[in-house]
Amino acid sequence: MKKIGFIGTGVMGASIVKHLLSAGYEVHVYNRTKSKTDELVELGAIWKDAPRDIAQASELIFTMVGFPEDVEEVYYSENGIFNGVQSGSILIDLTTSQPSLAEKIYETAKEKGTFSLDAPVSGGDLGARNGTLTTMVGGDEEAFETMKPIFMTFSGTLELQGPAGSGQHTKMANQIMIAGTMTGLTELLVYAKAAGLNLEKVLKTVGGGSAANWSLQNYGPRILKEDYSAGFFVKHFIKDLGIALNEAEKLGVNLPSTLNAKKLYDQLEDAGNGDDGTQALIKLWWEK
Ligand code: NAP
Repeated sequence: MKKIGFIGTGVMGASIVKHLLSAGYEVHVYNRTKSKTDELVELGAIWKDAPRDIAQASELIFTMVGFPEDVEEVYYSENGIFNGVQSGSILIDLTTSQPSLAEKIYETAKEKGTFSLDAPVSGGDLGARNGTLTTMVGGDEEAFETMKPIFMTFSGTLELQGPAGSGQHTKMANQIMIAGTMTGLTELLVYAKAAGLNLEKVLKTVGGGSAANWSLQNYGPRILKEDYSAGFFVKHFIKDLGIALNEAEKLGVNLPSTLNAKKLYDQLEDAGNGDDGTQALIKLWWEK
């Protein structure tokens, strides 16, 4: 069995590592804040002091950090993956990041005699916990085929979308849709509350009709419980919408609704809610 390295054990990464451990893999872990690996080490993961050490000890190296700058750091810094990687290894970035950065990593990996896949996921904290994530992959078929059984330890849906960067482009398409479902969910609740309706009943009823969607089903009940903790951070969604709008501009397409969603989320972050979950959008209306 190949040895696995995993860098970035936050909300999503920690759950994915648990699936890899349950499947019997030896997993080496590194995270900027070491304490976030404590539970994983208790479960059998092996701590390493830097991404470079992870690369030296593993043949399959996953990264799941926050922002594109973090991805750059873990791959390209002095203590980074590319200073320790063994030829023949496969590097898999699960972070939601820029398609152009995925292409750059792919080229560097090739120069080093290694493979790389961009493989962002969708399905939230619950999907990660339940091992039912949707994984959108860009890169070479050969590396994808090798990785398939390992991806399936935490994925419900898995598809190779095309060459390097295609996984990230698919994820951007996904986030453009989520921008609509999150603003839709928020306005649905604002309207239903103003109309004096029973919000639990409304969510249950419209969730059975053509307005049904993942945001409504998963975040609607959290809003009614006033649970604004992060399954998916506001600051990360703003990052994603920024990447999507930037890529759309390069492609010469207009995304007015996505732009509007980004403005609303910027407003939410400016009000000090960047570390809340994306369902906190309702606070722009309900806490005034
Ligand atoms: P998170 O809880 O912030 O996890 C990111 C982890 O990466 C943190 O533990 C962080 O360490 C670590 N990290 C960041 N920079 C690092 C570096 N330079 N070196 C080592 N470790 C580093 O966020 P998350 O919710 O798991 O999301 C991770 C990524 O997946 C993001 O790109 C997000 O957009 C994407 N995503 C999230 C969801 C979701 O529902 N949560 C769904 C799909 C995709 P610290 O502990 O020090 O901060």
